[in-house]
Amino acid sequence: MREINVVGGRISPDQLGRTMMHEHLVVGLPGWELDVAHPGPTFRDALAVCVDRISELKDAGVRSFVDPCPTDLGRDAKLAGEVAARTGMQIVLATGLFCELHAGGAYWRAKVAAAAAAGQDAAPYIAELFVKEIEEGIGDSGVRAGIIKVATDVGQVTPYERAIFKAAAIASQATGVPITTHTQQGELGLEQQAILTGHGVPACQLVIGHSDGSPDHHYHLGVIDGGSYLGFDRWGYQTGRYGRPDEDKIASLMQIVRARDARQVVVACDHVCCYRGSAWPPVDSVKDDESYNILHFVRNIAPRLKAAGLSQADLDLLTIENPRRYFSASAPGAQENANEGAAAEA
Ligand SMILES: [Zn+2]
Repeated sequence: MREINVVGGRISPDQLGRTMMHEHLVVGLPGWELDVAHPGPTFRDALAVCVDRISELKDAGVRSFVDPCPTDLGRDAKLAGEVAARTGMQIVLATGLFCELHAGGAYWRAKVAAAAAAGQDAAPYIAELFVKEIEEGIGDSGVRAGIIKVATDVGQVTPYERAIFKAAAIASQATGVPITTHTQQGELGLEQQAILTGHGVPACQLVIGHSDGSPDHHYHLGVIDGGSYLGFDRWGYQTGRYGRPDEDKIASLMQIVRARDARQVVVACDHVCCYRGSAWPPVDSVKDDESYNILHFVRNIAPRLKAAGLSQADLDLLTIENPRRYFSASAPGAQENANEGAAAEA
């Protein structure tokens, strides 16, 4: 069975247990380190906050989470190592690069632009970074990345982002590590899926993130029928430019389950324990809301989904079985075969 790189070692997908597929220890937009007037917490203070929040999440029954912070958003593998050691939480860290508008550091934009001007392809060069972080580790932390993160903003997938997506596809196929994406409010997810599968990534190895931001049922079914997972991973982002009421997201999810089933949706809160520099402005609009909490899905949304008619078995699909199957690189319809195989081995 394919193993997953987690902070501190490797586990099998069966060891994941209940899993939040998109939460963050720290996030900082590139340049945060120049904001010396608002430096954010020290390492020691950030560690205290993270250990506190992650311990609560573990006490609530969550055994694993994915922190899909890409290389250019303030990721801190050493901090993650300390948090994992002190809490016993299984944490999957990411490699990858964020969207051009909100990150897309000058270094990588210059590489992509120079390659394009020379009629060359920057993707294999960028893929070397992703593969190195998956196979050898992130910096000198000893932590290997277990997922690849890519992102788009609104309107279009930029040429820069297309190069990053191709690099992610190359690295994913070289290593077997799956891909998770950021969309802005569930926009361009079908384009993301088409680009990545077009470069050879199996659709079942993709989570199209922040799909709960979109009210479009046909968009949701398009991602599912294309074979990928929908990330309903921003519970609690209810107001402002990036928000949509939880009540509406619950209605969307139940509509998806009735139209298909619960086998291609994963969940999380996209909570950020600490910001480097000051908080990312869009999150300012929701961070005082009590629903902006890493426990929000487990404590508040899961009971509301059950009240709306979701079975415990379906809830277990969202939080246990779907993450397990995604990291196993098995197609959503392959579970019956996997069970037969397990039964035969037993
Ligand atoms: Zn995020």
